[in-house]
This record gives sequence, structure tokens and C-alpha cells, in this order.
Amino acid sequence: MSAGARKDPAAVETEVREKIHLEILKRTGAYHANDHILLPSGQHTSEYIEKTLVTTEPSFTEGLGAVIAKHFAQWPVDMVLSTGPGALILSHCVARAHPSRPIVVYGAKGLSGGKRRVSLPVEFQRLTRRGAKVLLVEDLVSTGSTLNLLINLVEQLGAIVVGIGCLWRRTSVDLDNRPVFSLVSRDFPTYDPDTCPFCKKGVPLNEEFVRRRHARRPSSVQEPKEA
Ligand SMILES: [Zn+2]
Repeated sequence: MSAGARKDPAAVETEVREKIHLEILKRTGAYHANDHILLPSGQHTSEYIEKTLVTTEPSFTEGLGAVIAKHFAQWPVDMVLSTGPGALILSHCVARAHPSRPIVVYGAKGLSGGKRRVSLPVEFQRLTRRGAKVLLVEDLVSTGSTLNLLINLVEQLGAIVVGIGCLWRRTSVDLDNRPVFSLVSRDFPTYDPDTCPFCKKGVPLNEEFVRRRHARRPSSVQEPKEA
């Protein structure tokens, strides 16, 4: 892009806003760039977000939640629904700042018949009337699979998804043309190890994030030994 190129003011505003939000995420230590990183898929990339660190700074999370709430302020919302610890912290901040004063509920992720699913505790189901307006909140959207499970859940309950708010979204994710607002929309290229330009240059591969994921799996949790 040349410096003199005229751009649509709305696009410029979005670009500036995204840069600010990216800086905020950098300050939490969650965002890594200019590295050579091994992903759980086995592919290599130069950028990575550590999901667990995204919501560690309450004032940042509150500020970002308020931006999402402001975006959806013109639509009445009865409840904010999320799943996962990071998304739940953010969803509280969104609900707190939304003029409808929606309630906050959360689903539990699990496996059923070998398939991933999200289920809503029965106490929350009782709070959900048919036609209720639901705002979905997610921290990071990389494949959209969790959001699609949440959308199915809302539809099963006879409620309506009014929108989806998230901190970070990979631009390529398809969510059926639903109204999605993300503070940062970004795609970073991933490479097969055979064609990775960083491997070709001999940049050392950072395997830290994949190792950490393995260490977090419940099956590898070390039980304290009995004395
Ligand atoms: Zn590589």
C-alpha cells in the first residue's frame, strides 16, 4: 500500500482500531510475532496467541468487552452465552457494559458419542425462554467449531442468536453469514514443514506452545504420590 493511496475512511478506522486492540493483546503477553512456531496441527507459522493469557488483565478485558457491547448496543440482548474460561471472563465484561443488562450463562464443553458438544446446565436451560435473544461471546475464533456448537445449542433451545462478539478471529472462518464483530480479524499464513520459508532460512523452531498443550492434557496431569 502506497502512503498516498486514498482509502475508505471506515476501512481506515477499522484498521486503526484493530492495531490498538492488537497492541492491547501484545501487552498481556498473549500475542507472539516474528517467531518460527510449531502449531498443534504440525504446521509452522510466525504468529501465535496464547489463549490463556488473553484475559489476565482485568482492565484490558473490561475495556475490550465494552467495545463489543457498544457494537451490539442497538440490539436488545436477553443473555450472553459462552463456553470456556477465557470466553466466560470476557462475556461477563460484555454483559456488564450492554444497555439491555443481559444475564450471563455458559455451556460446558464435552464429548458425547465421540463427538464434541456444548451443553447448557439445566439451571440455565430454565432461564432460557423460547425466542430469547442471545449474544454469543468467544475469545479466539480459529476454526469456528466451538461457535457452531453454541449456535446449534441456541437453536435447540428455541432461542435466537443476535450476534457473535469475539476478541480475535481468523478471517477465513465461515460462520454462515452471521453478524460477527471481532476486535482483531487476522489471518497469518501457516506452512507445511517441507515448504516453510523459516525452515529454509534455518530459523530455530519454537515448540514451546505445543509442548505446553500436551502438558495441560488431563491424561498427563501428574497425581501427587501417596506418602
Ligand atoms: Zn518451519
